[in-house]
Amino acid sequence: MVKPGLRQAVLHSFIVDPRRTRGNALAALHGTRESAMLYRPQHMYKLISMPNTLSIAIIGAGLAGISAARHLSEAGHQVQLFDKSRGSGGRLSSKRTEFGDLDIGAQYFTAREPGFRRELKRWLEAGWVADWEPQLYLYEKGQLRPSEDDQQRFIGMPRMTGLSRQLLEGLSLTSSCRIQRLRRDEPHWWLEDDQGSEHGPFDRVVVAAPAPQAAALLEPAVQLAQAAARINMLPCWAVALVFEQPLDTPVQACFVRDGALDWISRNSSKAGRKGPDSWVIHASTDWSAAHVDDSPLQVIAAVQQALAQILGCDLPEPVFSHAHRWLYARPAEDCQWGALAAPELGLYACGDWCLGGRVENAWLSGRQVARALMGAG
Ligand SMILES: Cc1cc2nc3c(=O)[nH]c(=O)nc-3n(C[C@H](O)[C@H](O)[C@H](O)COP(=O)(O)OP(=O)(O)OC[C@H]3O[C@@H](n4cnc5c(N)ncnc54)[C@H](O)[C@@H]3O)c2cc1C
Repeated sequence: MVKPGLRQAVLHSFIVDPRRTRGNALAALHGTRESAMLYRPQHMYKLISMPNTLSIAIIGAGLAGISAARHLSEAGHQVQLFDKSRGSGGRLSSKRTEFGDLDIGAQYFTAREPGFRRELKRWLEAGWVADWEPQLYLYEKGQLRPSEDDQQRFIGMPRMTGLSRQLLEGLSLTSSCRIQRLRRDEPHWWLEDDQGSEHGPFDRVVVAAPAPQAAALLEPAVQLAQAAARINMLPCWAVALVFEQPLDTPVQACFVRDGALDWISRNSSKAGRKGPDSWVIHASTDWSAAHVDDSPLQVIAAVQQALAQILGCDLPEPVFSHAHRWLYARPAEDCQWGALAAPELGLYACGDWCLGGRVENAWLSGRQVARALMGAG
């Protein structure tokens, strides 16, 4: 019997996108897809009661955490975000320099799912994002040629993190705060940071960090921790170069299929980016993994050489160069989980690693975890 004034919520075990993904998700938890098929969803459902307003901690203010925060706070819950970085946006990362802002993480995003496309329409109308239609090339088998790819691409304004900053409006974020451990003191959660301070109490916790970092925090829910620990995230070296004089090439973006690089982007060709000719180049996963311990100077030199070869020109000395190593750039595989949940503990997880390494998936995973937490998943 549910008490008046309390909402009913569906409680289900671990995985929170039952319509599309239960088979795959449980397979991940139990080893194979076949074993997952032995489970019947009805066996996992029961009714719990939920107070009208919950206090919810969200660890990670990347797009997944922000999406969860927005959905939960729009439903009337009290949400507190925590992030170890000074800013927000996670892998939607922009480096501020005297030569303008350089997008060194996600370069752009695409939108396929109808709900996300509706959200995108709002962001476009508000001017938080814009279209990006670069002169796109493909470099393959030693040849550079225009690409036929006609995918619509969107960018945050006036930098990728412009989007996360706008989405955080009205939400509460504690930045520069690395959460180290979750402590359960029935019926609440406390968050312990790396300075020894505790934050809480919270009714629910959502972990929205990349999988390897999430796995450590999810320890109180063993199966969730094990699921996150199984995700392999791949590294990527990102190099930003700024030239005083524009390079003599029509290329504004390029997918690279051979050699050390994976992607080239003329950052200054994006709307809203000010300053001289700036470029962001991503090394391939294999090259990044093989050179993961190289120094930034070594990486910049190698990437510059590869860029000159692809563009077919000598590069002048850049007025600015920077290398950033992403240890957890993207999950190795798409996994279709949606999000993870241990509702009996009030502990949840989301992030691109629950769906696939794209901005849109991070947003969808955050929405999915919010729905699960509110019992509508
Ligand atoms: C180099 C690169 C290029 C990319 N290019 C594209 C692209 O072109 N298009 C595209 O769609 N996607 C791209 N992606 C992928 C995209 O950026 C991600 O899928 C998406 O941003 C992930 O969002 P998230 O919220 O799941 O995770 P994140 O953005 O990683 O957010 C997680 C947050 O958790 C915080 N955190 C972690 N541990 C703790 C802790 N213990 N305590 C507190 N905070 C913590 C981190 O600081 C971070 O802010 C790219 C990624 C990289 C790295």
